[in-house]
Amino acid sequence: MVQAEDASGIRQQWIDAGGPACDHANLSPEFYLGSRTGDYVCMGCGEEFSRREAQALRQAGESAE
Ligand SMILES: [Zn+2]
Repeated sequence: MVQAEDASGIRQQWIDAGGPACDHANLSPEFYLGSRTGDYVCMGCGEEFSRREAQALRQAGESAE
């Protein structure tokens, strides 16, 4: 899990690194004040995804294997 405020830190680090390409392979549920927001955050680049987007990314990754 990742806190909402941590997501912005991850995103800033990713931008500082030059914003390299990210395949969003490591999505984590986002929490805010101890509750799930229902969104997911990429632990690589900090981008936020809705539950539906996260599921689509997971399925795309599975079919690629
Ligand atoms: Zn990413």
